[in-house]
Amino acid sequence: MNGSSEQDNVHDHSDPSHGAGLGFDTRAIHYAFDSAAFSRAVQPPVFLTSTYGFESVVANDAAAAQGGRLYAREYNPTTEILEQRLANLEGAEAGLVVSTGMAAFGTLILSLLSQGDELVVHKTLYSNTVAMVEHGLPRFGIKVVPVDLSEPSNLDAAITNRTKLVYFETPVNPLSAILDIAAIVERAHAHGVKVAVDSTFASPALQRPLEHGADIVLHSLTKYINGHGDTLGGALLGDAETLHTLHETGLRYITGATLSPHSAFLILRGLKTLSLRMERHSASALTIAQMLDEHPAVSWVSYPFLESHPDHVIARKQMAQGSGMLAFGLHAGFDGARTMLDHLKLLTRAVSLGDTDSLIYHPASITRARQTIRKDAHMVSGVGEDLVRLSVGLEDVNDLIADLRQALQVL
Ligand code: PLP
Repeated sequence: MNGSSEQDNVHDHSDPSHGAGLGFDTRAIHYAFDSAAFSRAVQPPVFLTSTYGFESVVANDAAAAQGGRLYAREYNPTTEILEQRLANLEGAEAGLVVSTGMAAFGTLILSLLSQGDELVVHKTLYSNTVAMVEHGLPRFGIKVVPVDLSEPSNLDAAITNRTKLVYFETPVNPLSAILDIAAIVERAHAHGVKVAVDSTFASPALQRPLEHGADIVLHSLTKYINGHGDTLGGALLGDAETLHTLHETGLRYITGATLSPHSAFLILRGLKTLSLRMERHSASALTIAQMLDEHPAVSWVSYPFLESHPDHVIARKQMAQGSGMLAFGLHAGFDGARTMLDHLKLLTRAVSLGDTDSLIYHPASITRARQTIRKDAHMVSGVGEDLVRLSVGLEDVNDLIADLRQALQVL
């Protein structure tokens, strides 16, 4: 299921890229780590240093001329292993990791777009990305054009000669809707515009947008890739030239949003079990989606690998499995969602996703709470007041089902 192209049982330690050509899981564990260079430590060391000494001023001149490995905002050996490993797993030439998924989005947009440029986005996005495109980017003269990309031909009217990038998530947060990567890329490329895909909900174990023609992939590493809910991180993966720009402008002096080396270590550790975890997340989520689909208190369920999902054919084309994210609505609506959540005993009421622990939340309740401090806070396009988002964790699926059933029973 993990999309390994070539399976080779021999790990060639003479190969400088340490794992190239091996299966996905082998590369998730070994790629880009040369233990011989680190006293044969089996796990990568964490380099906690803010700066690097240089042999001589002349040596420093040479290092600076080559981009330099002078200072920890721009370079760290632990972080570099993570960047190379993630790039390899996505099928990208290069990678950049930063402090959060939002920092990755900021680095991407503020490095590649300037005043007067236009950004086309899908109409539904993660709520903080929505806040940035609605409130942040227009302040800097970047025009954002929201479009319904479930119909890729809508791009034709949205793209102008100022459009620099098309950006969307698939699966879409929090709806678990699916957008057709290849179809959107075909339209965008016909107009000479690059495409960036936020693939956070799927992870490279289940979906690799570059294989469908996308130019750049964004991940919140906070979610499935780290997988244990104990650190934040973000990544951008793509061609070497673009990634050089993102590193040299975005990370070096625009956002400066460096990932801590300790977080890089934790994320490398999480990555080792990524496809095992995604298999269990996906299997349990499908079982729970089927249960909810038949439950009399539930009015609708959105899970990409359910036959009833409107985009399940596209999902099966571009994803190996359905992942652990699903959304559902209750006949009892807004109040019913609140009542049900408060009756859960095992599932954790929390935002975020992709952790070992099942996390469930009700976006409309959060929006209502936010409105008390920000009057203009509003629901993201396409998200109803009844929507409950569930990130299915790695607990025993029967325990999760029992908890959901007893909470639904009170409605
Ligand atoms: N993209 C998606 C799809 C997300 O769900 C999130 C966070 O929930 C982000 C980006 C932002 O990531 P972070 O929380 O690491 O900043």
